[in-house]
Amino acid sequence: MTLKNRFLAGATAVAAIAAAGPALADHAWSNYHWSTPDGVVTIPVVDNTTGDWRPRVQLAVSDWNKSAHIDSAYDPNGTNNNRRCSMIQDTIQVCNSAYGNTGWLGIASISLSGGHIVAGTTKLNDTYFAYPQYNNEADKQLVTCQEIGHDYGLGHQNEDFNTDATDSCMEYTSDSTNNTQPDFHDYAMLDLIYGHNEGGTTGGGGGDPAPCKGRGCKGKSLGFGVGNTQAEWGRAVGYDAQNRPNVFKTNINGYEVVTHVTWAPDARRNTDPGNPHDHDDHTH
Ligand SMILES: [Zn+2]
Ligand SMILES: [Zn+2]
Ligand SMILES: [Zn+2]
Repeated sequence: MTLKNRFLAGATAVAAIAAAGPALADHAWSNYHWSTPDGVVTIPVVDNTTGDWRPRVQLAVSDWNKSAHIDSAYDPNGTNNNRRCSMIQDTIQVCNSAYGNTGWLGIASISLSGGHIVAGTTKLNDTYFAYPQYNNEADKQLVTCQEIGHDYGLGHQNEDFNTDATDSCMEYTSDSTNNTQPDFHDYAMLDLIYGHNEGGTTGGGGGDPAPCKGRGCKGKSLGFGVGNTQAEWGRAVGYDAQNRPNVFKTNINGYEVVTHVTWAPDARRNTDPGNPHDHDDHTH
């Protein structure tokens, strides 16, 4: 399908969703999205990773670029500190490090301002990927693909680690073998998310950041990186099928910061029993 036709198909589907109500927007991440002038995200993915992570990041970028709504440059020349992984405006920063026994394989965080994503980060935890049960190509590619997918605004298709419901990387799965790439449904969701018309000024205050295109594009630092513990992510706003909190929200430096966590399935449960399970960001 041509870009134009896909765009129109997306716009039609958006109208259908609007008529049917929000329940059908099943795995968008609470309507979070980048501001785009024409429905195509050109935010570069900046690779700060080391070793074998680099080809995985590159593959994930090319996989997401198969969407008619994503055209991200892969920038191999990241200069971020991998432990801190600072938010840089108009970029997705990908980092790896031995972040320690945090309980998670990967986290994706987005910073929002004026109703739009203005920066994203992905952190990949070498501490857990060194354990034999996660030290395999499928798990590593799945998590790389999934966290970058979150940075574009996608949620999960399935949040039950005991099942393998799809062939998408946007899944908690019992078997990662066929879940290393996006599937058709992820691309359809991107059509929905980015098929909407921004309609000129959004009136959301603050205005959109200046466009930043192409290789080596480096925006300004937002002045923080997202930490590695639940205490630093804010309040839980989403839960997986086992009622473990997996989406968190806080405010840092004037930005709303949302973090999506891929827990290591067999890590010690770290639930949040004091928090009512309101599922407000979780429509599955
Ligand atoms: Zn879905
Ligand atoms: Zn928008
Ligand atoms: Zn996830």
